Amino acid sequence: MSEALKAYRVDDEGGDGNSCVVFAKSNAPARRLGADELLTEWEGVSCRRAPEFDQYAPGPVPIGALLDAGWWFECAVCCQRVTGEDAPTLADGGVYCSPWHRLRDVERRARLVAERRLGVVMAILALPFPLPADAEGVVFSGSGRRAAPGCRFRFPGGKGAAEWSSAAPDRVTIAAQDAEAWEAFRGRGKGEASSVGGAP
Ligand SMILES: [Zn+2]
Repeated sequence: MSEALKAYRVDDEGGDGNSCVVFAKSNAPARRLGADELLTEWEGVSCRRAPEFDQYAPGPVPIGALLDAGWWFECAVCCQRVTGEDAPTLADGGVYCSPWHRLRDVERRARLVAERRLGVVMAILALPFPLPADAEGVVFSGSGRRAAPGCRFRFPGGKGAAEWSSAAPDRVTIAAQDAEAWEAFRGRGKGEASSVGGAP
């Protein structure tokens, strides 16, 4: 029952000194939750009641309320510390030191979405068979090469996903265990060469 949940503040006693507010019925589970949220161990955190945040049970506490209470956050783009006095920009659960850094983050995410879509479109144009509708666009980082748009898709009988990258457009990479399924799907010598590799 959420009525019984109380707010606890959990502080990381080492490392970067981050804190969080969690909601639980008593200290021990709160400490466990907080340590998990701070990605650290039980021994590395302290936990105490924070009744000023009880009203936000079952959480999360709005970032604005934490800023009002004097908490600081790192700008999601430049990692600069910002407090409520810096009048940061709050959007999509993130904190930004300025509207410009918020804009940069939006642009970065939009570029990623566009690059992934491009990967799917390029694969549709390059592959000699219809790409499944749920193919997922991927930007491959490639060792020492520039990032290459591509995509990942499932095929009938395959246990893993097949991968196509615009860096090697005449090749589809499949997991070794899927060699037979791929052959059944595409047959031999029908245009594209498949290479057996270690797709995740
Ligand atoms: Zn910033």
